[in-house]
Amino acid sequence: MRNSEIAAILEEVADLLELKGVAFKPNAYRKAARNIREMKQELETYRKKEDLRAIPGVGEAIAKKVEEILDTGSLRYLDELKEELPAGLLQLMEVPDIGPKTAMRLYKELRITNLHELKAAATSHQIRDLKGFGDKSEERVLQGIALLERRSGRMLLGYAYPIAERLRTHVQGAARLKLISLGGSLRRMKETIGDIDLLAGSDDAGRVMDAFASYQDVEEVLERGPTKSVVRLKDGTQVDLRVVKEVEYGAALQYFTGNKEHNVELRSMANDKGMKLNEYGLFRKDNNQVVAREREEDIYRELGLRIMPPELRENRGEIQASIKGLLPKLVEMEDVKGDFHVHSLASDGAATIEEIAYAAKRKGYEYVGITDHSQSLGVANGLSVERLRGNMDIARNIMERVDGVKVLIGAEVEILEDGGLDYPDKVLKELDYVIGAVHSKFKMSEAEMTNRLLAAFSNEHMTILAHPTGRVLEQRGPYLFDKERVFQAAKEGGICLELNAYVERLDLSDLDCIKAKELGARVAIGTDAHSLSQLDYMLYGVATARRGWLEPKDVLNCLPLSELVDILSR
Ligand SMILES: [Zn+2]
Ligand SMILES: [Zn+2]
Repeated sequence: MRNSEIAAILEEVADLLELKGVAFKPNAYRKAARNIREMKQELETYRKKEDLRAIPGVGEAIAKKVEEILDTGSLRYLDELKEELPAGLLQLMEVPDIGPKTAMRLYKELRITNLHELKAAATSHQIRDLKGFGDKSEERVLQGIALLERRSGRMLLGYAYPIAERLRTHVQGAARLKLISLGGSLRRMKETIGDIDLLAGSDDAGRVMDAFASYQDVEEVLERGPTKSVVRLKDGTQVDLRVVKEVEYGAALQYFTGNKEHNVELRSMANDKGMKLNEYGLFRKDNNQVVAREREEDIYRELGLRIMPPELRENRGEIQASIKGLLPKLVEMEDVKGDFHVHSLASDGAATIEEIAYAAKRKGYEYVGITDHSQSLGVANGLSVERLRGNMDIARNIMERVDGVKVLIGAEVEILEDGGLDYPDKVLKELDYVIGAVHSKFKMSEAEMTNRLLAAFSNEHMTILAHPTGRVLEQRGPYLFDKERVFQAAKEGGICLELNAYVERLDLSDLDCIKAKELGARVAIGTDAHSLSQLDYMLYGVATARRGWLEPKDVLNCLPLSELVDILSR
């Protein structure tokens, strides 16, 4: 390991300590890092002859850590620090100009915990109003984010979808169009998106292109042709619009929705029937006569299939299911009767319980679950038993004033290292339900993590396992555990697996939903909303559930309140 790499690790420790608001220590780490970086000799060699403690700025504590880095190539202390803070907060610091102090201010003053939220805040001009910021710094933040996004090349569904939907609505109105849709992976509601694609059907392409270019957030028209235009929006997002003839709209929509493997399968079915399928239509091979092209469902029908929702078109058995008439009747937004995972002002949310109750009522929900963090999650202002009981009183009070919606009092309780839960049983018993969550020690071995989760399941108050794999999209992979065993145990214990709909999580993933269903475990969708607007994340939870073939009977949120009570109390 080179000195510069060792220094970088110490500097990261300094950043994180600073982010946590620790005094003095960050400077000590920085100073040691600087001196190590400037040494002429590699530390490996130096250490054989001299004591590391002889390096200026390297005292006992730091010397031990440097030795660990030299011996193992990594530093446990750094891993632990990382686990304590929201993963997204670290990513904020990858934006040029954002150091730990700024990141912490954004977190504390605007409740920004990740890039997605930072971008939203910058786009809606909340950053420029912060003390010490201005138009210029806000612009630099946006440029920095665009830079990072280009690096990974994937956008989160929850970020791309509203942008695309607003633009689609604009073009539809401005060009008075009937036929316009999102395309590609976005129409299939995949968790991350490569490009935003729109598809329109019109015999007056020029008018559609004009409408597209006139959108208020377009910064630059990058390309304009007779059938395709590309624009860049003010936030750096690129959007493609394709315009096809009205009669070819169905074929084009089918083709551009994909996915590729699904389309390959359809083309081969067409071929077997003496037909050929492309973006212009379904044609007879012998005389090129059009068989179908105006509507998507006509194409599927002529191939002997029932049309399936775009979310299923991944060539994961949907074509076989369609042939046999066994397509699932997927869960829909209208089936959702409530949200199980919402944070209030009491922990790290931005709204009061009363505001949440009214927002849930406006959504037409029958119930909403308040689930603030438990005592040992200090970074998220977890609730002591006393504060939790105070929250219960507030909620009961509100229930007397707000009718038409039931406020369930739950908690997002830490699953501790040994699988114990972070409140005593007698407190858990007072709650309507308990979401158990792993927020620490992600790096346990597979066997340890499996045992930890199974031990948590053995607590009779545990109702839902929060974000079961712990992944954070584009930031952190899942932790290791025996999924089959844990899902199986969930089914046997009557514990629901959460589909956390927070845009950065979508955990369970679509494939995990399929597995949960296979093993018979029920799924509970929770938005993990930290503000009222995030209650809208339910859409992405439902979309992911649909991609995972879930039907209303597989999803806890589809139960009316009357049937819910028994299940929650197990
Ligand atoms: Zn959580
Ligand atoms: Zn949460």
